[in-house]
Amino acid sequence: MRYWIILYIMLVNLLLSRHSKRHAAVMAASTTSTTSTTASATTGEYVSSLARLLQKRELSSKAALSAATNTLRQKYAPTSTSTLRHNSRAFVRPSFFHSSAVTASSSTPTKDTSTSFDFDYFVIGAGSGGIASARRAATYGAKVAVAEKARLGGTCVNVGCVPKKVMWNAASIAEVLHDMKHYGFSSSDKVTFDWPQLKSNRDKYIARLNGIYDRNLEASGVTKVVGAASLVGKNTVQITNPENGTTVTHTAKHILIATGGVPVFPNGDGIQEHCISSDGFFDLEELPRKAAVVGAGYIAVELAGVLQALGTETHLVVRKEGALRGFDDLLKSTLDEEMQRQGIEIHRNTNGMEKVELNPDGTKKVYLKNGEVLDGLDTVLVAPGRKPNVESLNLEQVGVQQKKGGYVEVNEYCETSVEGIYALGDVIGEIELTPTAIAAGRRLSDRLFLGVEGAKINYELVPTVVFSHPPIGTIGLTEEEAIKKFGQEHIKVYRSKFANLYYGAWQVEPDDKPKSAMKLVCAGKEEKVVGLHVIGMGADEMLQGTCLYAFDIVSSLSINLVLTTI
Ligand SMILES: Cc1cc2nc3c(=O)[nH]c(=O)nc-3n(C[C@H](O)[C@H](O)[C@H](O)COP(=O)(O)OP(=O)(O)OC[C@H]3O[C@@H](n4cnc5c(N)ncnc54)[C@H](O)[C@@H]3O)c2cc1C
Repeated sequence: MRYWIILYIMLVNLLLSRHSKRHAAVMAASTTSTTSTTASATTGEYVSSLARLLQKRELSSKAALSAATNTLRQKYAPTSTSTLRHNSRAFVRPSFFHSSAVTASSSTPTKDTSTSFDFDYFVIGAGSGGIASARRAATYGAKVAVAEKARLGGTCVNVGCVPKKVMWNAASIAEVLHDMKHYGFSSSDKVTFDWPQLKSNRDKYIARLNGIYDRNLEASGVTKVVGAASLVGKNTVQITNPENGTTVTHTAKHILIATGGVPVFPNGDGIQEHCISSDGFFDLEELPRKAAVVGAGYIAVELAGVLQALGTETHLVVRKEGALRGFDDLLKSTLDEEMQRQGIEIHRNTNGMEKVELNPDGTKKVYLKNGEVLDGLDTVLVAPGRKPNVESLNLEQVGVQQKKGGYVEVNEYCETSVEGIYALGDVIGEIELTPTAIAAGRRLSDRLFLGVEGAKINYELVPTVVFSHPPIGTIGLTEEEAIKKFGQEHIKVYRSKFANLYYGAWQVEPDDKPKSAMKLVCAGKEEKVVGLHVIGMGADEMLQGTCLYAFDIVSSLSINLVLTTI
């Protein structure tokens, strides 16, 4: 079934791309801002061909098919209120057809003489959300620019998901080497690990991705502006060149703030000087011999797991009782047991760090607020959280309101307090993940440049994976949240805890085998699933599959959810 859904999504993409292209072409031919009925007919034509194609492949769920068709009709039929101006040079096919993208951008923006603005859309930040939104807008024919002050791709590509996953893969290989003796393989002690080689390969991969992002922006017709952008007015941005300090200003009808977040360092003597953040983790030239990871969030447990698996003596320092506050108890307790089984020493109820000193031999000494002292550390990695990257944006001056923690305040449509200025992704402090930033960015462009009224994302049910060891997959309410919401008497919980068959042949005590655990939280008489929590080998892929499957079988509304994340 999963394959049908993937095939189905690909077909929808194919048809939408054709539709967008035709739709854009129709609008480009027209000098007015309104759309013509030809475009509507085109939509209907493609929706029908979608139906025909899917039926030919005997898609079993008719309800899914009709829901998809309706969704397409409602979402992508052009509205007569669209006010988009078009420039034909930016007509490209959507991102899923990189290879056949056709148009190149100019590196210096050309003034659109038909309007008083340089651009229809100026995006600040070429990270997950910014790039996705910019390219989607360009697909619809908007004249788009993106300003980036660092490397293209943002946090995820350069110091987040991507290098993290490479390191997680390395750690997983180390675990398999450790396990191989149970399967009759020997000589694992002859295998050596070369951190600098891994780092070099990883860095090359990321450099390649930076290049791909660059080419994709160009192919989409998006103008790239190098430098740090700040707002100087409702429709004006100023970009400072990082090399020579010169500035340039651009005007745009719509401005998007997609500047992401940066790691936070706790206060305390020597902490800023002698500790590294998750960004610094990816700069490490050597595998640390002994390290402390300070933090209780997903980044802390992920990086602690990597270090321990690769051979570092790892200490995890948490302020309270354990890591992953806010996650379901079953996940927290199972991961806690597994981290200890792997040899990670967890320092609990420390209330955080007091100060850090540098020893004469270059190692560090960490004083914790509960009186504990950790000494002889090569690396102290702090990951207490992140803050929005807004410092140089001049938000106050233009009247963009911020909320607690400095995050940009937006409504459900990513609109800030200033008309024409939008924000999304980590900078708004909702769910700080790449797919949510991407989806929000695309929905915003769907709304602004294709006229899809009501296009927005829903932050309520976001499947999430933690690349701990073992991984975690989770969606929906924790048991505690469900009880609070529905009342204890309306909640039924299904639990399972077992050793994966992978560990079956291990000649160790059953209690010493790593565990998988699952929980389904159900509400009401019908036992509607309101939370699903998995930890164990394969939990990452399992959650993905389960969500797709659930979306397919539960109702036609679920298929809409799948569509709205494309
Ligand atoms: C260690 C780590 C692991 C992670 N793992 C995952 C994961 O597995 N899965 C997942 O979904 N998410 C993960 N994330 C989170 C994910 O990286 C972010 O949620 C995502 O990158 C947010 O996208 P964004 O577009 O909001 O911002 P970003 O991707 O951070 O992009 C913002 C961009 O704006 C630029 N910028 C900032 N200010 C300016 C300015 N004034 N002018 C010009 N440019 C500017 C920045 O240089 C940056 O390139 C991880 C994060 C970290 C730190």
